[in-house]
Amino acid sequence: MSLFENTLAQINEAAGIMQLDENIKEVISHPKKMLQVSVPVKMDDGKVKVFKGYRVQHSDVRGPCKGGIRYHWQVDIEEVKALATWMSMKCAVVNIPYGGGKGGVECNPKELSDAEMERLSRGYIDAISQIVGPELDIPAPDVYTNAQVMAWFADEFSKIKGKPSIGVVTGKPLEFGGSLGRNTATAQGGVYVLLKYLRDNDIDPKGLKVVVQGFGNAGMFGATILHKEGLKIIGVSDSKGGIYKEEGFDPNAVFDVKKSKGSVQDFEGVEKITNEELIEKDCDVLVLAALENQVHKDNAQNIKGKIILELANGPITPEGDEILVKNEIEVIPDILANAGGVTVSYFEWVQNLANFYWTEEEVQQKLKPIMEKALADVLTMKNKYRSSMRQAAFIVAIKRIEDTMKLRGIV
Ligand code: GLU
Repeated sequence: MSLFENTLAQINEAAGIMQLDENIKEVISHPKKMLQVSVPVKMDDGKVKVFKGYRVQHSDVRGPCKGGIRYHWQVDIEEVKALATWMSMKCAVVNIPYGGGKGGVECNPKELSDAEMERLSRGYIDAISQIVGPELDIPAPDVYTNAQVMAWFADEFSKIKGKPSIGVVTGKPLEFGGSLGRNTATAQGGVYVLLKYLRDNDIDPKGLKVVVQGFGNAGMFGATILHKEGLKIIGVSDSKGGIYKEEGFDPNAVFDVKKSKGSVQDFEGVEKITNEELIEKDCDVLVLAALENQVHKDNAQNIKGKIILELANGPITPEGDEILVKNEIEVIPDILANAGGVTVSYFEWVQNLANFYWTEEEVQQKLKPIMEKALADVLTMKNKYRSSMRQAAFIVAIKRIEDTMKLRGIV
């Protein structure tokens, strides 16, 4: 099954439970617009290499399309379609006025120099410039793109338009229209949701054992924020492999080692394990913050975490999900758990349009209630339909998209 087929399976499941109008289902099962581009880049050795890029706009029913750009060697159109669809659902779950979009470039950023990255980024935004813009479709960072890449996008797009147009992307550096709190937002939003969930269930977070797969923006901040909240980080990993220590360790120290030496596995005094072993470790909270399809039909049975927080998009396949639900493992789904990132992107965009900037405290004060309300809305649906949290999150999102579609006369 392709990733987009996984997404359709999730939509179908939710549609069945909520008895969704077939017309609505038909519309949301198709991305509205898909663009494929070829981006020629002059490499440092003088040769020209052509990179394949995509931008998919799944829906603009509730507002401009919104979603990140991924640089990865496995990017393909089916993946980008899935990620764009999840963005529409995610923005609707947290009830921010956006539709969903996603972009990707098939490349290996680890093999590109900074100058090549810059030329590729400028070339890509040039190639999609007709369909993006502050009122149309607003990209942001995703896997292997960061604030610097967003700065190049915003600079190039402003040149094309002949005027400052920095609201075209979010996740920019603070010195160039970024928002305080955007860097930590995906992780922080997930932590707000998790802590509220624990409070509601009378579980004391202090000392809970946590395993985090992935040590990029979401996983690294996820680990450090949870550590600060008093939970015990016993395992983390990056693409090279994982580390484990039952007594726990300080993820800040792991971050320092990764920064200077290249991998979490260079951290000393811990057991070195594979990514596969890591996610099967016994723990209270398993945070999935790497790539998609990490838990599937062949390993779901071995998962021992009691609660799973999906900071990555699509880390569990539908077959894997079914097994976890049977085993009564509570999965806080991606479209809820990692929606803090796009929520603070929304704040950044609002600040750009108003040209008035908020303090970090203001950002957190606005983020927390949005995340907690989204959790409450999802739990209400979960109780109403006796469904999983993922199904409930899809139902909340689809219902909101449906209401707007009907009001607008789209169906
Ligand atoms: N790439 C992030 C996501 O998957 C952020 C998107 C955004 O900020 O627009 O949610």
